[in-house]
Amino acid sequence: MEPLDVLCLGELLIDFVSDTPGADLGGSRGFIKAPGGAPANVAAGVARLGGHSGFVGCVGDDPFGRFLRGVLDGEGVDTSPMTFSSTSNTSLAFVSRRLDGEREFSFYRGADSALRPEDIDDATLRRARVLHCCSVSMSRQPARDATFSAIERATSFGAMVSFDPNLRPPLWDDLADAKNCCLHGLELAHLVKVSEEEARWLSGYEDLALAAEALWRPQLRMLAITLGDAGVRYRYTGGAGVVPGLPVKAVDTTGAGDAFVAGLLSALRDAGAPVEQLEPGQAEAALRFANACGALTTTRPGAIPALPTRAEIAALLSA
Ligand code: ADP
Repeated sequence: MEPLDVLCLGELLIDFVSDTPGADLGGSRGFIKAPGGAPANVAAGVARLGGHSGFVGCVGDDPFGRFLRGVLDGEGVDTSPMTFSSTSNTSLAFVSRRLDGEREFSFYRGADSALRPEDIDDATLRRARVLHCCSVSMSRQPARDATFSAIERATSFGAMVSFDPNLRPPLWDDLADAKNCCLHGLELAHLVKVSEEEARWLSGYEDLALAAEALWRPQLRMLAITLGDAGVRYRYTGGAGVVPGLPVKAVDTTGAGDAFVAGLLSALRDAGAPVEQLEPGQAEAALRFANACGALTTTRPGAIPALPTRAEIAALLSA
């Protein structure tokens, strides 16, 4: 079996996106079906950039589950590690964007949390150069055990582990439990991407430079705190700093963080050396590529359809 640049693990679900601009969920007239799930977006993003990516997760053995697999297949993602539940329906999320820009979510949890440790083969994990996970799959059993089991096994097989908490508070019964799981992920991962809010929540520091210090762990190779249009604050084994964002006309920020991760993992692979051996200039170039990937995703609606190609990134970076 072919090696995978990135194997993404976690939720793949239907986002029903409000068709009513500025309305909350209750005030929305209708909802448009779109593929969703942060790890799945990253898998599609890596493939769009020409990398080999795979997805492992559980959907229902139902029309939505088959639709979702078809979307990832169409993007060139290896979906052979996916499982289909005969007892749970595909998970759904209803999403609206209010006038203040805040998104409102209502989740109907199903098959995504049914992923079991034994659904993830050692053979699949051995193919992965990078295993990328988020925290949604940590919020319910058996998917929590499946996620941590995959992280431990992939690490023992020599993969780099990438973690983006992507916290969705309504999916947790207890936010203290969410924090413990995210901090456990931070202890195990080699590359971590967090948003500003997550960095503050996990570290307890308002100041992001202090947060980056507090979140650093001995096994980490790179920590990225994404700052929206301001770019990214980073720390890696060879230094720390801020790489400014690229100015674009943003219309929908859905998937920007996932595109950033896809861009960063792709650029780090292109760099041709382990993260800890990169010169500061090489690390910053990879982060700039990731910023461009995130920025371009905000210029088009949706997540997967908005993911950029290498040519678009090159054009933005040379503009
Ligand atoms: P998340 O979606 O995880 O909260 P951010 O909103 O910080 O993450 O976006 C991730 C990355 O995408 C940022 O670090 C930046 O590089 C890029 N990005 C996001 N929004 C914009 C924007 N309005 N203009 C330019 N770049 C953006």
